[in-house]
Amino acid sequence: MRQRVRKGLLVYSALMFPLTFFLLSPYVIVISAADGVLNGSAMIFGLLLVFSVIGSRLFCGWLCPGGAVQDFISNANSRPWNSRWKNLSKYVIWVVWFSFIVFLWIHNGPIKGDFLHFMDINIIYMIIYAVVVSLIYLFTLMTGRRGMCHSLCWMAPFMVIGETIADFFHIPRFRLKAKPDDCVSCGKCSRICPMGLNIAEMVKSGRLDNTECINCLECVDECPKKAISFGICQKQ
Ligand code: SF4
Ligand code: SF4
Repeated sequence: MRQRVRKGLLVYSALMFPLTFFLLSPYVIVISAADGVLNGSAMIFGLLLVFSVIGSRLFCGWLCPGGAVQDFISNANSRPWNSRWKNLSKYVIWVVWFSFIVFLWIHNGPIKGDFLHFMDINIIYMIIYAVVVSLIYLFTLMTGRRGMCHSLCWMAPFMVIGETIADFFHIPRFRLKAKPDDCVSCGKCSRICPMGLNIAEMVKSGRLDNTECINCLECVDECPKKAISFGICQKQ
């Protein structure tokens, strides 16, 4: 039931993507910053950072339209796409991209807020939308399960920063919990994880914190021994 609700939310989010597209755009935030404007995507990325201090990456697993688009294509290429180097690339891209935005904000300041800046739904907008969604499909097809989340996503680092802040200040946040003694090493959790995490090994070690986890709870629902649970708690 829980996974049906999650997948339903992702489908809804994907259907709304033509409208929310510019509010999650890594490009519109740049051209807005060049105009001295703090636009809707800047505000939403900031909100995601604040939310993740308690909510970790629930947005990624339950609401992100980009994640939904990738999940739709995962049957065509379901291989895991997860390694230290594959995951690192998104942080390198993020540092360059966000440093440039901060430079533009400082250079063009004082900045003013305008949530819908540059938002004009017309034929050009729809063509750009179609191209971007096609690129997300293609990238996932070439890489693997949630390949874009691992290697390209510009929103994930904001949430990882939020998680890191929570852990640094011992703020309780949403996380998985393991009961290693109940695990029978069947591997079902690892096979279903959309992020390709070796969650079975993590359960056995008792350490479930991983910045790539999108809190989808697939592993919790798949485990026949109920060896994985979740809750809001401090880092152990
Ligand atoms: S570890 Fe579990 S909650 Fe995290 S992404 Fe994988 S299946 Fe989802
Ligand atoms: S599904 Fe449950 S029992 Fe099987 S490996 Fe994962 S945690 Fe262990």
